[in-house]
Amino acid sequence: MVPDMSSVNETGGDAAPKVARVAVDGAACDRLFDYAIPADLAASVRPGMRVRAPFGRRTVTGYVIATADRSEHPSLKPLLAVEGDEPYIDADLLALSQWMASYYCAPIESCVRTVLPAPVRRSGATFRRQASVGLGACPPSEDAVTALSARAPKQAGVLAALAAGPLSLPELLRQTGAPRSAVQALVRKGWVDLSSDVVRRDPLGGRTILPTQPLPLMPQQEEAMRLILRSVDTLDPRVVLLYGVTGSGKTEVYLQALDHARRHGRGAIMLVPEISLTPQTVERFVGRFGPDVAVLHSRLSEGERHDEWHRVRRGDATIVVGARSAVFAPVRRLGLIVVDEEHEPSYKQEDAPRYHARDVAVMRGHLLGCSVVLGSATPSMESWANAGKGKYALTRMPARVDHRSMPHLRVVDMRLAAQESGQPGVFSRELLDAIRLRLDRAEQTILFLNRRGYASSLICRKCGYVAGCDQCSISLTYHRQDHTLKCHMCGGSQTVPPRCPACRDPEFKYTGVGTQRVEQIVRTCFPKARVSRMDADTTGGKGSHERLLGDFRSGRIDILIGTQMIAKGLDFPNVTLVGVVYADLSLHLPDFRAGERTYQLLAQVAGRAGRGDVAGEVIVQTYTPFHPAVQAVRNLDFEGFVAQDLEFRRELGYPPFGHLVCVGVRGASEEKVAEVAARLHAALAPVVPATVVLGDPTPAPIARIKGAYRYQILLRTRAVRSVAGPLAASLRAVRLPSDVHAAIDVDAVSLL
Ligand code: ADP
Ligand code: ZN
Repeated sequence: MVPDMSSVNETGGDAAPKVARVAVDGAACDRLFDYAIPADLAASVRPGMRVRAPFGRRTVTGYVIATADRSEHPSLKPLLAVEGDEPYIDADLLALSQWMASYYCAPIESCVRTVLPAPVRRSGATFRRQASVGLGACPPSEDAVTALSARAPKQAGVLAALAAGPLSLPELLRQTGAPRSAVQALVRKGWVDLSSDVVRRDPLGGRTILPTQPLPLMPQQEEAMRLILRSVDTLDPRVVLLYGVTGSGKTEVYLQALDHARRHGRGAIMLVPEISLTPQTVERFVGRFGPDVAVLHSRLSEGERHDEWHRVRRGDATIVVGARSAVFAPVRRLGLIVVDEEHEPSYKQEDAPRYHARDVAVMRGHLLGCSVVLGSATPSMESWANAGKGKYALTRMPARVDHRSMPHLRVVDMRLAAQESGQPGVFSRELLDAIRLRLDRAEQTILFLNRRGYASSLICRKCGYVAGCDQCSISLTYHRQDHTLKCHMCGGSQTVPPRCPACRDPEFKYTGVGTQRVEQIVRTCFPKARVSRMDADTTGGKGSHERLLGDFRSGRIDILIGTQMIAKGLDFPNVTLVGVVYADLSLHLPDFRAGERTYQLLAQVAGRAGRGDVAGEVIVQTYTPFHPAVQAVRNLDFEGFVAQDLEFRRELGYPPFGHLVCVGVRGASEEKVAEVAARLHAALAPVVPATVVLGDPTPAPIARIKGAYRYQILLRTRAVRSVAGPLAASLRAVRLPSDVHAAIDVDAVSLL
């Protein structure tokens, strides 16, 4: 797992290196380019520096990955310039990019691009400057001011406004109503000065956040903290897996661990999944650490990301809170990386480089000698197994803070519910009664369904025709609001046909339910209740997500209906009931992780109930009540479920008992895709051990997305290192038609 550090700097002895290996930004190919280092730049060219270089007829920006004494290319063009005094990419991040490139079979150039955020990388990216105006060194005499008041009252107004102190130019013009020319006239007289200040684009935009103090820890938190602090101070253990049920106080442990690192002069990174990076989450960290916190995620504006990144690099911010890519933040003296909800599939990037932020965090910690904490209420099988093997140290927090009880869980067998009522319904009587009880007691309810829309699909009763997306091989979902059929894969939409396109029968039937349909039924059953829905369809507008949560928090909503958006990390003390409308959706995915995902999701949703003083209740409606994942959730028996699931995976050699590599081929012509997949398969056979390739290429479970046909070759290996090289080489050796793409996904998370 240790990357080959020798390649970072191949220069021997003290002689100045003559060749720079450069990752050219925007060169669409998988290699470094060698350039000669001119004598006048020799002192400043180092790995990680940003340089300008000729590329064809253009001049491009690039990053020096390594230096060397010689190149295999006979005639090299010289570098043109070095930008800045300091490397943009520190040695440890360079080593990390190189590890990513080889482990994930990704172009080094794409790895360098991933390490530096786009707003920083773009040449010409700068700080925002704003003109500021103040009184000059030699102010006018009183007589001059009096004269000015008569002759040029606007100018006099400007002088008066500045008496209290300097102002930004726009603010000054706004306050005084004076034109720009009035200020210019005063500048010419030497009575006021114009200067240009860097202004920070602050993602928190001046929001006031109340400071918080560390809480006295509960015994289970104390114990976890002891282990984590030992890790931060001594690197023994290097990696700690913190398994704590929802509401056990993990975040408070993170906060105090971050504080410990900070007080010892070390920086830290706090990773949370993008979906839980709500203002509420950010506030908990800013409340404790104030301006020491930088926030990095993709929903910031480009300017905000640029400024936050530089604040971290300068050492002005020592704690970074962010999503996946924040694992690359250029934190000074990094001492701790925390990965919250480490089991979250969204930590895996689905484009090259297809890295997993949790695994990258562990690798960065390893390269740098920094402690890594992985936290979850439902750890991934991979991390659990690593703890079992002693690679990670495990600490448990099995109880909720303040001894609040875990919610009471009931599983309702919907097959029986349907028999009783004589027709299959969306709600069982148990769930309806429980909602009514909460309304009577002025408590809140969350209803969870992992499918937006009104009904899942439109089926013709006569001929069985199912309305499907003509670009993707999945069925369309009916959305009532605009009466359209939408594809949740490609986003395409079409109007509902009046008749079945196949047999012309006018009677279409909706089957299954989505969040919209659930909302409609709830409104009918409880006409007086205040009901809102939160899913991708209702949170499109900027700030709508926050507004909905704010309304719910302040009690303006009785029942909140939503998709997985509401499953994560929300902490609402007045929620005493969580209803899972249909627990089986994720069970039926053709993926060996379906059970694990279902357990995780149900446990997370259940964790939203009973976070205040009243005990919570969770009702899970299902058609498969005896599935192991559903059974385990009933008692929130994570360890029991894991033991069973691991056994099943051991038999099949699935992760964590081996690494899964998925080679995906896609293209518009199925014939070509199949042909390329077969050729790749044949090329792989001689270079990777036979046991590694799992059968012939097959169409992916979702055989078509956005018009592209998809084939897969699956490989299973004990050591990625032994197959990554041959894999990447055979992919390069196979000539692909221009309209067929192939990609290697190491440690694939989604096999759909
Ligand atoms: P988790 O991250 O494990 O879900 P949190 O850290 O969000 O749990 O804690 C749940 C609630 O308990 C929060 O409101 C938090 O402020 C509170 N809490 C955490 N630790 C303590 C403590 N030691 N004493 C009192 N309250 C605590
Ligand atoms: Zn589609």
